[in-house]
Amino acid sequence: MSTNNYIVSARKYRPATFRSVVGQESLTHTLKTAIASQRLAHAYLFCGPRGVGKTTCARIFAKTINCLSPTAEGEACNECELCRAFNEQRSYNITELDAASNNSVDDIRNINEQVRIPPQTGMYRVFIIDEVHMLTTAAFNAFLKTLEEPPEYAIFILATTEKQKVLPTILSRCQIYDFSRITVPDIVKQLQYICEEENVEAEPAALNVIAQKADGAMRDALSIFDQVTASSEGHITYRSAIENLNVLDYDYYFKLVEAFIAGDVPQALLIYRDIREKGFDSQFFVNGLGQHVRDLMVSSTPQTHSLLEMNAEVAQLYVTQAAKVTPRFLYQAIELCNTTDLNYRNASNKQLLVELMLIKLSQIMNPMPQEQPVQQAPKVQKIATPAPQAAPRQAAPAPQVPQAPPQPVAPAPQPLAAQPAAPMRPTPPPPAPAPPRQASAPSVPRPAATPRILVNTTAQPKRQAEQPVAASTNVAPSHEVRRAAFTPEQLQQAWNAYINNHPNEHVVINTMRMASPQRVTDTQYMIEVQNPSQVQFIQTAMNNLLTELRNAVSNDMLALDIKITDRGPAPKIWTQREIAEEIVKNNPKFAQFIKDYELSLA
Ligand SMILES: [Zn+2]
Repeated sequence: MSTNNYIVSARKYRPATFRSVVGQESLTHTLKTAIASQRLAHAYLFCGPRGVGKTTCARIFAKTINCLSPTAEGEACNECELCRAFNEQRSYNITELDAASNNSVDDIRNINEQVRIPPQTGMYRVFIIDEVHMLTTAAFNAFLKTLEEPPEYAIFILATTEKQKVLPTILSRCQIYDFSRITVPDIVKQLQYICEEENVEAEPAALNVIAQKADGAMRDALSIFDQVTASSEGHITYRSAIENLNVLDYDYYFKLVEAFIAGDVPQALLIYRDIREKGFDSQFFVNGLGQHVRDLMVSSTPQTHSLLEMNAEVAQLYVTQAAKVTPRFLYQAIELCNTTDLNYRNASNKQLLVELMLIKLSQIMNPMPQEQPVQQAPKVQKIATPAPQAAPRQAAPAPQVPQAPPQPVAPAPQPLAAQPAAPMRPTPPPPAPAPPRQASAPSVPRPAATPRILVNTTAQPKRQAEQPVAASTNVAPSHEVRRAAFTPEQLQQAWNAYINNHPNEHVVINTMRMASPQRVTDTQYMIEVQNPSQVQFIQTAMNNLLTELRNAVSNDMLALDIKITDRGPAPKIWTQREIAEEIVKNNPKFAQFIKDYELSLA
C-alpha cells in the first residue's frame, strides 16, 4: 500500500449491507426481518451515540427497501439500477437533512414540499433527518403535520444522539431503535479486516489503543486509524500508535502496580515523574490508573471478563497481573484513585497529592509494622527447618539414606519444640512407594507469630508411617523421616500447588508468587522476599506451607530459609522521614528529583 493514493477508510469501508454494519447485529437483524416481511413503518427513530452507524443504517435501509431484487435475507442486491444509483449517490429516493445546521421552519417546509413528490423509480422515498433534536420548536411543529399524514411512499428516518430532547409527540409516532456504542473488540476486528484488505500490518495492541481512543464510535476509529496509518508506512506498532495519539503507555500502569505489590515507593514515584516528564497531566494519569485498577478488578474473576473491553492479547496481560493482587488492594486502590481525583482540583500541591496516593497504594499490600516494638532482625532469617528431630530418629531409626546434610540449624530447639506441633490426627500408614500424599497437617490455626516461635513450631517433620486412629493421640507416634530425592522443579510445582490451594491466604500467596524457592542444597532452599512484611506473611503460613511441601516431595529434610533481598537495613520500624531518607540514600536520581523540585523531607 502506498500512502499517497490512500482512501479515507471511513468512506471506503462504509458498509453497503446490513451484514457489514459493525457491532449492531440484533438491530440490523430486526430491520432486515421487517423489510423481508414487508412490515414497514412510516417513521423510525435511530438513537445512539455518534459514529455508531445510525446514518449508515438509514442509508442501507433506504437502498434496501427500493432494491429491485433483494436477497432472501432482506439485504440489497447492490447490483440493480436502483442500488447502483444509491451507491453512487445519485438516487432521488433519498433526501438527507442535517438538522444541526438546517433547523429552521423553512428547512422543514422545504422537506414537506419534497415529500409530496412521488418516487420516479422504485417504491419509496426516504427522508433522513439527522440530529432531529436540534430542530426549533416551530420546525418541530411544522414537521409534525407531515409525520401525522405521510403519503404511502414516504418513510422518515430520524436520527439523534439525544433521544430525551425529542418531543414526545414525535417519539410516539416512531419505531425506536437504540444503537449501542461499538465494543473495543468489535472495532479491533473491523480494523483487522481493513488491515488485511489494505495490506497494512498492525500489532493487536496498537489496534486496541485506536479502538479505545475511538470510544465506541466506528467512524472515529476509522479516522484515527487513517491518521496512524499515514505516519506508519504500512506497519502500525503499539509504540507508533500511542505516540501518534498521545496516549499514555499502559506499560506505565503495569509497572506501577508491580511497584505497589512490592511496596516499592521510590519506584512508584520515579515512574510518576517519567509520566509527568512526558507531558501527561497528573489528573489524566490518576484517572488512567483508576481505569487500570478497574480493568484489573474485572480481570480477576472469569465472570466479569466480558466487562474488559480489549482484545485477547492485551486482556491476558490484565488477567496475569490481576492474579498477583488481592481484592482488598483493588478496592482500596480504586477508592484512592477516586479520592485523589475528587481532591485534585482543590489541592494546592497537586504533585504531592498524587505522590501521597502512590505511597498509600504501595502500602496496601505491604502494611508497615507500626504497632510492634522495634526489633533488629538479621538479614537472613532462619525460619524453617531445624533438622528432623533427634527424638523420632531414635524411636525409629531411618537409615536408608547415607546421611542427611547438615541442616541449617537455626536457633537451638526451644522447649516449645517438644510439644508436638503436628500429629493430632494420625491416619493409616500409606503404602510403601509413597503415593501423592494428602496433607495430614494439623490445621491448627496459628497466630501470626514472631520468627522465634515459628522456628520451633515448624521444626516437626511430617511423619511417614502414622498410627492407626486407635492409637492414643496423647502419645507422639513414632515415624520415619522421609528422604525422597526431588528436583527444584518438583518443589516449584508443590509451591505453585500451595498457591492454588489457598486462594484466601492473599498476602501469603501473593508473596509466594513473587518469590520462588531457590535451591541451596538438595534439601535446603532459599526464599528471597523484598521486605520485612513479606517475611511475616510467609511466616504466618510457614507451618502449613512446609508440611504441604514436604508431603509433596516426600522429604522431611526440606528446609526453607527466608532472605530479604538486600535493599537497605534490616527490618525495623520506619518513620515516614526515615523512609524518605532511605529512598534518597539509595536513589541518587530521586535525590536529584527532590532537589529539582525543591521538595523537602517532611
Ligand atoms: Zn438492488
